Amino acid sequence: MAEKKTTLIQVPFDKPDAYHALNMPLYHSVAFEFDSAEEMELAFTGRSAGHAYSRITNPTVQYFEKRVQALTRALSVTAMNTGMSAISNALITVSKAGANIVTSKHLFSNTMAFLFDVLAPFGVEIRTCDLTNPDVVRQHIDENTCAIFLEIITNPQLEVADLGKLGVIGKEAGVPLIADSTIVPFTHYPARELGVNIEVLSSTKYLAGGGTSLGGLIIDYGNFNWKQSKTLGEFAQQYKAFAFTKKLRSEVHSNLGCYMTPHAAYMQTLGLETLGLRYKTQAENTLVLAKKLSITPGIVSVNYPGLPGHPFHEVAKQQFGELTGAVLTFSLENRQACFSFLNKLKLVRRATNLFENKSLAIHPASTIFGNFKSEQLEQMNIDERAIRLSVGLEDVEDIYQDIVQALQ
Ligand SMILES: *Cc1c(COP(=O)(O)O)cnc(C)c1O
Repeated sequence: MAEKKTTLIQVPFDKPDAYHALNMPLYHSVAFEFDSAEEMELAFTGRSAGHAYSRITNPTVQYFEKRVQALTRALSVTAMNTGMSAISNALITVSKAGANIVTSKHLFSNTMAFLFDVLAPFGVEIRTCDLTNPDVVRQHIDENTCAIFLEIITNPQLEVADLGKLGVIGKEAGVPLIADSTIVPFTHYPARELGVNIEVLSSTKYLAGGGTSLGGLIIDYGNFNWKQSKTLGEFAQQYKAFAFTKKLRSEVHSNLGCYMTPHAAYMQTLGLETLGLRYKTQAENTLVLAKKLSITPGIVSVNYPGLPGHPFHEVAKQQFGELTGAVLTFSLENRQACFSFLNKLKLVRRATNLFENKSLAIHPASTIFGNFKSEQLEQMNIDERAIRLSVGLEDVEDIYQDIVQALQ
């Protein structure tokens, strides 16, 4: 961790800055000029590292990618303009008509809608099952499975799958494990060691910090043998370990046009520098609150994997340590009680987003999941009585007191 603290702050630029700027300057330019037609040809055909056009690469965004790469020691990092574009671009890269993705119905609402409403009509089968049961996952994989996709802690059910076991199942079957790690930052759990091959996340959340900008990351750990892949086998003949990154960069991301903007990269690079401090404080606040709320009158139940006795406590502790993110949910009597609670909050803000500096509360069933039918909500395990609380950096006692007064 000592090493990570320093790596969070100190990563040199690729080239010395002309003005010796201490922060990576914001290169807000779409195009980059070349000294000769020959150099232009090399850059446009990917044979030199020069920047040509900011939909493809940009120096400020590339520096942000480099910072994440230094922390993860990944083979490649690609910064996207939202978490959703990271998820969609990664899954499009590995899939094709006739292939299937093994996943769960316990997913972030837009991810669920992307899979079923956008990807499935192109002929990609979405197979959902209980990802917390490794045997069931094994049964759902066949010769056309192109990925196992999951959230390391699901939002908002806070279900935790055993990554190590799924990693082994994926490896045996020649199927990459693609994980959305939005709820616990990559600096705070050993993704590669647990068998994650591709990590995707919404950097809008912890990395941006103050909720300043949207962003997403696709992290390729380089630990999957793409020759085994049902969809990238041909690419792997030529590009070996780089097959996924090559396909993503040259065919998917460049043509879908979802690259991170330089402005977002600038802000999120600064956000990254304080990530360790913020995560520690926010997650510690969350554990304190989870314990206090569990014995607070008016609260029916509290859901936080960091709580001893939580159904996924052991597996969460093993993978993420004592702190399992800075979000919890709790249930009240009914939907009306949830609305009344939200309306009485004074300090905690009524807003969606996770891991802002400020604490935020929302009723997921009527908002983020408001457009799903009641039977879908049931399958997704979205509880009508649940409040989701994203815990901020305030004094934990102040957050608790606000909750207590709003329960009156
Ligand atoms: C917020 C979130 C996303 C989507 O990220 P955006 O940056 O809003 O596109 C995806 N997955 C999870 C788990 C999230 O919480």
